[in-house]
Amino acid sequence: MDFGLSDEERAIRDTARDFIAKEVMPLEQELLRRERAHQPGLERSELRELQLKARKFGFWGLATPQEYGGMDLPAVVQSLIWTEIGRSYVPFRFGGEADNILFHATEEQKREFLLPTIEGERSSCFAITEPGAGSDAANIRLSARRDGDDWILNGEKTFITGGNDADFAIVIAVTDPERGARQGGATAFLVDRAMGWRSEFIPTMGEGGPASLIFDDVRVPHRNILGEVGQGFTLGMEWIGKGRYTIPSHAVGIAERALRMAIEQANTRETFGAKIGTNQAIQWMIADSETEMEAARWLILRAAWTVDQGLDPRHASSMAKLYGAGMVNRVVDRVLQIHGGMGYTRELPIERWYRQVRLYRIFEGTDEMQRLIIARDLLRGYTKLGGHLA
Ligand SMILES: Cc1cc2nc3c(=O)[nH]c(=O)nc-3n(C[C@H](O)[C@H](O)[C@H](O)COP(=O)(O)OP(=O)(O)OC[C@H]3O[C@@H](n4cnc5c(N)ncnc54)[C@H](O)[C@@H]3O)c2cc1C
Repeated sequence: MDFGLSDEERAIRDTARDFIAKEVMPLEQELLRRERAHQPGLERSELRELQLKARKFGFWGLATPQEYGGMDLPAVVQSLIWTEIGRSYVPFRFGGEADNILFHATEEQKREFLLPTIEGERSSCFAITEPGAGSDAANIRLSARRDGDDWILNGEKTFITGGNDADFAIVIAVTDPERGARQGGATAFLVDRAMGWRSEFIPTMGEGGPASLIFDDVRVPHRNILGEVGQGFTLGMEWIGKGRYTIPSHAVGIAERALRMAIEQANTRETFGAKIGTNQAIQWMIADSETEMEAARWLILRAAWTVDQGLDPRHASSMAKLYGAGMVNRVVDRVLQIHGGMGYTRELPIERWYRQVRLYRIFEGTDEMQRLIIARDLLRGYTKLGGHLA
């Protein structure tokens, strides 16, 4: 058994680490200053500038196939890079990416949507959640009614990341109300903002915020269907599947950085004439955090490895998402506790992480939905106990 990285994997990981340390982390204090003043921490133009700089280092399109100019990295390497990204609280991500399901586009759609998205000239959002359908995504109601060569969309999507800025939305709509969404009753549409949908900002406990998207008789040409009519739910689940290992990978980066701060604090802050790190109460918080982080790391890498092996990653990814999201919440909470009152202030990034990572237990499948998937797989015999070594 080999838990090591190949030379190539290590080299890519280390280059990403250097880039984050040299180009992204120096922006952190300014980010906190702006957010304290209720301004966006990082402007879209600044993100783009960073992404173009990273492109010169060869980092462009981690998941994007080489024929589109991307790196097409294995999931394991992508996971390692997302962990590096997580080490900085600047909301950076490498450029050259597009939603995984956009690669199902026709040649014409690729020219109109996929290629400009990869180049960063257009931005997308993905919309399945509705006010009445979140975990139960098959219960969506936003309707698409055929009208000659067009479809007319009516309804509302909610909590859509990037929905305030997106130039176009990938919208999962009901095209055949008689059939359930799961049974071929839903279809994915590529809908330009110019076609008439509007967005409304939703304030949340995190920085920035998602949006509601409102569709009021929005006319969309038939050629804007992504994939096949009736394939919308399957595409939606494919989109969500990617986040199940990248989200917890990011969480490991956050947890590592935060824990490093806690160790520093434990080794310097004195109470009652001794460093607080000499207290068992503090040591146990550090020990539990390190242990849980390590457990999360291997669950996530195993999930990513499962993707690379071409095996069904759902079970492994659900465990990685469930555990990684819980882990980062527990670690950040302990790190805040170890910092005492300072941890609660906006001088430090800890309270920011505390607010940010709470989302990780909710979006792209709540904790409860991950548990439901894991248990159902076992109860129905789809997965054997013992993982891939069984
Ligand atoms: C900041 C943010 C960004 C988001 N970005 C996007 C996006 O880009 N695109 C998009 O489409 N969606 C997005 N979402 C939506 C997100 O995926 C949903 O919020 C999530 O799936 C939960 O759905 P819900 O909020 O409707 O909660 P509900 O489904 O109403 O669930 C409420 C609670 O009940 C629990 N629950 C529900 N059913 C069961 C059950 N059968 N058994 C046990 N417990 C159950 C849930 O786990 C949860 O704890 C985002 C959400 C947020 C907050």
